[in-house]
Amino acid sequence: MKFNTKTIHGGQHPEPSTGAVMPPVFQTSTFAQSSPGVHKGYEYSRAANPTRTALEDALASIENGARGLAFSSGLAATDCVLKLLKPNDEVIAMDDLYGGTYRMFSKVYSEFGIKFHFVDMNDFEKLESLFNENTKLVWVETPTNPLMKLADIAKIAELTKKKNVLFAVDNTFATPYLQNPLDLGADIVMHSATKYLGGHSDVIAGALVAKTEEIGEKLHFAQFATGATLGPNDAYLVLRGIKTLHLRIQRHSENGQKVAEYLEKHPKVKRVYYPGLESHPNHEIAKKQMHGGFGGMVSFTFASEKKEDSIKFLENVKVFTLAESLGGVESLANHPALMTHASVPEDKRKELGITDDMVRLSVGVEDAEDLLNDLEQALNS
Ligand SMILES: *Cc1c(COP(=O)(O)O)cnc(C)c1O
Repeated sequence: MKFNTKTIHGGQHPEPSTGAVMPPVFQTSTFAQSSPGVHKGYEYSRAANPTRTALEDALASIENGARGLAFSSGLAATDCVLKLLKPNDEVIAMDDLYGGTYRMFSKVYSEFGIKFHFVDMNDFEKLESLFNENTKLVWVETPTNPLMKLADIAKIAELTKKKNVLFAVDNTFATPYLQNPLDLGADIVMHSATKYLGGHSDVIAGALVAKTEEIGEKLHFAQFATGATLGPNDAYLVLRGIKTLHLRIQRHSENGQKVAEYLEKHPKVKRVYYPGLESHPNHEIAKKQMHGGFGGMVSFTFASEKKEDSIKFLENVKVFTLAESLGGVESLANHPALMTHASVPEDKRKELGITDDMVRLSVGVEDAEDLLNDLEQALNS
């Protein structure tokens, strides 16, 4: 099956007892057994629930993996991967990560004796020099938030295979419509399904997809043993979202490209961060590993370099909504330094390049003309 068909049919079957085309929301904690230990494959919903199974099979299908797992949040999914590790293990992670991922690594798991190295994944020599016999996991996010930095998945996979180290990719921004990390050599894909997979800003959810049954089984054990599973209602919402993923991402990408090109030409704008622009420093990697577009996330800074100008802009947008989060059908605008990345210390923000005049846009699926008109009036306000 090709991708667009998989979003709708991948891993899906009519519900056996009624023929319902969409899986019912199996709002139940437990399942009747005919004799002790004799059941229809379901015992207790933390271990498995049919609505969640339908979502997990869809996830495995669209990410070309052996096993999908659904979690109560994106961070719960990341947390599950970290539970494969032991004290003294080492992790090599990208230097520009979702703030919550960085917080979990540096504040929670480093307290359990796991050592983290944060590195610029485009500095290959540095990356290679960090491997030792304790290295167990490489963690990459691409594109990143809000700077849209890219990491070369195939190139890193070559290295992790040689060193026999697990390689996980946070594919939240790209989604499998644009990028397939498992096909490029990664072992695990992670998603904040809260974003594009859900796609409608109405659910918090996370996902993992393992390339092999063996890794999938280890992750399922950690999930079952520690409990951060997704409830059936939320599983239903994410599954419903996935059925239009291909349609939405196509439009997000078209609109994202238009918005990025418009902003790049605007006299009030200094710099635009979008992997689909030739001016993007990682544009060649983007062309190599992404396909069908470059997504809906665009960041930019102001020619004046003034924080006040970015605030004024955000107070004046009308079609865009000033809010955190991303990946829903509606366009959102955010001020990373004051909102999503406020927990990153100021000197660290400066070091990364998250300036006080930076605005991040999650470009939605509205008419591009309305979005561009809105940006124009807000930039001129
Ligand atoms: C939002 C996000 C997360 C965390 O997901 P939650 O669903 O909020 O727990 C992780 N990675 C990226 C790239 C995100 O955008």
